[in-house]
Amino acid sequence: MKAELVPPYPLEGVVSWNMNTTCNYRCSYCTQRFVDDRKQWARDLPTFIRFFCDLPGDWEVKLSGGEPTLHPGFEELVGALAAAGRRVSMVSNLSAKPALLAAFSALTAARPGLISASLHLEYTDVQTFLSKLSAVAAAHAGPVHATCVATRAALPGLPALVARFAEAGLQLKVQPEKQDRDVIAYTAEELGALRALGGHNGTGRVRANFRGQPCWAGARYFIVDHRGEAFRCYPARRGKTERLGNVLDGTARLGLGPRPCAYDYCSCTVPQERGMVMGGRCSQGA
Ligand code: SF4
Ligand code: SF4
Repeated sequence: MKAELVPPYPLEGVVSWNMNTTCNYRCSYCTQRFVDDRKQWARDLPTFIRFFCDLPGDWEVKLSGGEPTLHPGFEELVGALAAAGRRVSMVSNLSAKPALLAAFSALTAARPGLISASLHLEYTDVQTFLSKLSAVAAAHAGPVHATCVATRAALPGLPALVARFAEAGLQLKVQPEKQDRDVIAYTAEELGALRALGGHNGTGRVRANFRGQPCWAGARYFIVDHRGEAFRCYPARRGKTERLGNVLDGTARLGLGPRPCAYDYCSCTVPQERGMVMGGRCSQGA
């Protein structure tokens, strides 16, 4: 382990909470479309809230799903987490009523998190989405951006779409399409186009590989699902390795420091963007 690649202690930890499988869309590239029951949501909110509020140090709770705004206790839990001083962010398809989106911004105003709005071209009219996102961005004290999956069909039109968002003062980040839990086999030309658009979420990489590099995931980043199952990161959950326990039965435990990454593909851009892992390479089309 090279000392210069050990990332410094992340002052703010991040937990990504997939709080429900429920979604009003059925995107062809959705990584959850094979989930048996797309109508599940986190029960026992008080136990989840207590767990997130008791985490040691500063934490951001990133709500996602499915579509998190469809959770029947969405406002209640956002309010409780924000009142406890947690930064609250969300990944949303922006289909919620404007009043609910405004409530999210109002509840989190003291310590605003990120709103990452996913544009799904199979379901959403671009101009309608853009107008709604502009209104959200005007009302939200924290950062707001959009994302779009670079399917083969969408990729040729993405440069113009990115420019259209930029004209409206909004950033549109691209995400590689995944099938069978991995990035699809883009051609060299498609990879070049993806890289020109910034790679996965602006990281510059399409398929990141940090195997062997020390990473804070498992200590200052982790993921939780709607049943309370906690894992080091998404590749850990995929491989059913590095399980951290369960939030609801009281067995969830975090590590103390960075540990080497054990995976060939890192789909988690949060640890990459927050400097929780360094070095690495792009293992598709390098
Ligand atoms: S909006 Fe997101 S969660 Fe819902 S189907 Fe599409 S990709 Fe899946
Ligand atoms: S896959 Fe990514 S988040 Fe998980 S341990 Fe490796 S670098 Fe960290």
